[in-house]
Amino acid sequence: MVVVMDEAATEDQIQNVIAKLVEMNFNVHRSTGVNQTLLGAIGDRRNIDPRNFELLDGVHEVLRVTTPYKLASRAFHPENSLIKIRDLTLGGDEVVVMAGPCSVETETQMEIIAAAVKKAGAKILRGGAFKPRTSPYSFQGLGEPGLKILQTVAAREGLLTVSEVMEVAQLPMLAEYVDILQVGARNMQNFNLLRELGKTRKPVLLKRGLAATIEELLMAAEYLMAGGNYQVILCERGIRTFENATRNTLDISAIPVVHKLSHLPIIADPSHGTGRRDKVAPMARAAVAAGADGLMIEVHHDPDHALSDGAQSLFPKQFAALMEELRMIAQVLGRKL
Ligand code: PEP
Ligand code: MN
Repeated sequence: MVVVMDEAATEDQIQNVIAKLVEMNFNVHRSTGVNQTLLGAIGDRRNIDPRNFELLDGVHEVLRVTTPYKLASRAFHPENSLIKIRDLTLGGDEVVVMAGPCSVETETQMEIIAAAVKKAGAKILRGGAFKPRTSPYSFQGLGEPGLKILQTVAAREGLLTVSEVMEVAQLPMLAEYVDILQVGARNMQNFNLLRELGKTRKPVLLKRGLAATIEELLMAAEYLMAGGNYQVILCERGIRTFENATRNTLDISAIPVVHKLSHLPIIADPSHGTGRRDKVAPMARAAVAAGADGLMIEVHHDPDHALSDGAQSLFPKQFAALMEELRMIAQVLGRKL
């Protein structure tokens, strides 16, 4: 970090800051300009709160030059991380599409949707069995029977699976049924859950919190990686802004930003990102054009009767048409889909 001293800082104040930095094992490089003194502090600042230095007399501001996340940073691993799940690779040339209903409802529902998304080119079947609903009176998911349906149907269709884990106690059970454990937006900073997931060796799909910055998303990934689980897939699923024309604001720019800051793959979820079926395709196309490593898209054969998120679910036909378009966009970028 760099400590910028006030123009009026006295030599005593400067020496006091230097002494504090040295005490904390920093190497200090002083540069005295015409008006101001800068103190470059080199060392491990992971446990240092820069605000403590901002409070010292004579300090103008403290600038951070390194990231607070290490394992998730591009500097730590310059190549893109490849997440291998059976014969599928995420983060490589292929744009991987995960599709399915918001919630697992019945075996027949899952069978119809799985067959349709598989035919259109999806590789991973999604379906929530534990649902984080805003209202306690809304459908909360089928629980373990729902996971059994997801697993059975996916195996029949030759698809991988992803489903959300909402709490630590569900983790061992979920890990038995699914290939990818999803951490929902509302749990992105559930640090106990992240720590437990860090101990598993299952890929984790980490969704960006509703009001989380990109740095906070990467810090959440750091929790998983600090536990030894490097199989992390990030997901931009829209954030809360003042705009209310859509359910959330899908932050497409997060995709290139994350690619620059981190080696982890990032996918986009235009379904939760927009909340409206008619907005899903344009945002899916934009996400692939922006370099997304994959997409998560909600699809339902009878969205009017879906138990959750029907309004944002594509009809199978719409999904198939979208996949054709995405294939062309991916090709322009030298990627497969
Ligand atoms: C979901 O994928 O169904 C879901 C609840 O997503 P999010 O956590 O992004 O709201
Ligand atoms: Mn949903």
